[in-house]
Amino acid sequence: MSDIKEKTDFIRDIISKDLEKEGSNRKIHTRFPPEPNGYLHVGHAKSICLNFGLADEFGGKCNLRFDDTNPTKEESEYAESIKTDIKWLGFDWEDREYYASDYFEKLYEFAIALIKKGKAYVCDLSAEEIRQYRGTLTTPGKESPCRSRSQEENLALLKEMRDGKYPDGSKVLRAKIDMSSPNLNMRDPVMYRILHKSHHRTGSSWCMYPTYDWAHGQSDSIENITHSICTLEFEDHRPLYDWFIDQLGIHHPRQIEFARLNLTYTVMSKRMLLELVEKKYVNGWDDPRMPTISGMRRRGYSPQAIRNFCLQIGLAKAESTVDIAFLEHFIREDLNKKAARVMAVLNPLKVIIDNYPDSKEEELTAVNNPEDPCAGTRKVPFSKILYIEREDFIEDPPKKFYRLAPGREVRLRYAYFIKCVDAVKDSDGSILELHCTYDPATRGGDAPDGRKVKATLHWVSAKHSIPAEVRLFGHLFIKENPLKLEEGSDFKENLSPHSSQVVKDVRLEPSLYGAKPGNIYQFERLGYFCVDSDTTNGKIVFNRTVTLKDEWAKIRTAT
Ligand code: ATP
Ligand code: MG
Repeated sequence: MSDIKEKTDFIRDIISKDLEKEGSNRKIHTRFPPEPNGYLHVGHAKSICLNFGLADEFGGKCNLRFDDTNPTKEESEYAESIKTDIKWLGFDWEDREYYASDYFEKLYEFAIALIKKGKAYVCDLSAEEIRQYRGTLTTPGKESPCRSRSQEENLALLKEMRDGKYPDGSKVLRAKIDMSSPNLNMRDPVMYRILHKSHHRTGSSWCMYPTYDWAHGQSDSIENITHSICTLEFEDHRPLYDWFIDQLGIHHPRQIEFARLNLTYTVMSKRMLLELVEKKYVNGWDDPRMPTISGMRRRGYSPQAIRNFCLQIGLAKAESTVDIAFLEHFIREDLNKKAARVMAVLNPLKVIIDNYPDSKEEELTAVNNPEDPCAGTRKVPFSKILYIEREDFIEDPPKKFYRLAPGREVRLRYAYFIKCVDAVKDSDGSILELHCTYDPATRGGDAPDGRKVKATLHWVSAKHSIPAEVRLFGHLFIKENPLKLEEGSDFKENLSPHSSQVVKDVRLEPSLYGAKPGNIYQFERLGYFCVDSDTTNGKIVFNRTVTLKDEWAKIRTAT
């Protein structure tokens, strides 16, 4: 994508230098390697934008590879959702859709090659014993008694493992490296574990599966990946990946690590997001409060806005957390240009215009988007009975409240000046309706005598308005860092009880009749709202995508 071209960062510098060395005919080849064990989140979007963006920028290719080595947690539903999300973000892997499971046979051959070199052995220790033998950061590990098994025995045992002769957990294949290495990943790591479980792609062909560490680097190598870009936690695994590849003497990709994206007021771990979904703390992976791509899509975020955000956060070698207001800034910036302005009243208060003829109706002209000269205008109906926002009237207004109050005149957007003459209350004192007068000379919103008003209110004509439901969202968690926990407490205790609020009897201007899921509008003065997929013929449901107030601009000027 052309917008990525101006960027430079440490990864682009490394790639540029590599390409210089290699000469002009060398192309880069990257990959995005999700494990199909959950839906993608905005952290993955960062990795997708990076891997596909680099390929595009340097004239190379990017593969989609599912790292599907763990049949206990993986499902086709996840693989499908991942493909939908990558496409939606605007990226294309063409015909390069690969699966680590396609390489199971090849990996098995590699394992045999390592055994034959005396670099791998079958071990009978239990998982717990392996852990104990591994040692710690300060103490060396202890060698397994199986380490000295002969090549023939190892080959025979591996074959029997594959043939299903042993129960789960009874044997593993391990690399024979160095039990006293300061890097724990090098202390004879496990390459295969026995798991009598069917796999979403290979079915029951296998009853032992490669570990991620054994599969990942070799999969990159098989695909001729030139630059294997991953997050920082894999830095300590790099020596192991290098070791496997050097022992096997196969193509050696260059691994580069960068810091993962963290956002305030949310979590970015698939395990935790899965827990929120499974235990119904949220309404599925695409709940608009979720940091998932599908949640953001449902909430009304556009792929362009997410890509802009991913581009602007940059790449670093050190962990940090990005303010969620920064993401919202890009959502607003994008919608400001795209979303048509309309009027909707979330909390209706009836207004009767006493001097407006009972049966009269007018069509007034409203501007669709002042930011977009091509967006044109539309007609909004005006009549004697209107709704305004309840919060726009106070009977006894405080000093800086300039909106409607008894005796006060305000402008109705695109319509007239109105003046409040009376507020009718019910028996317990709450306001039932307002009586106002209008000035016919102010049609369109300005007074010919030059008199000014201090507020402009949005409104809808009661009899023309259509009903809707609106869902307002706040942050999913109450704490900036939901993972900062007291001893013994759980991240779910930091979930916000107010993250979702449903407003039932919203009134919309009639131009919204027939609005379709995915359509997005700015409700004047209220924010951006997107039609939700729960919309039916009888009821339009909106999600508030984002408010109008740019918290990020505030933060930026304060610092
Ligand atoms: P898991 O714990 O299940 O491995 P994961 O978040 O690492 O979770 P993967 O499916 O392995 O999920 O991730 C696919 C790719 O996305 C990897 O290359 C990973 O490094 C990258 N990625 C994951 N989370 C982030 C993040 N928060 N920021 C940037 N990249 C990320
Ligand atoms: Mg991972």
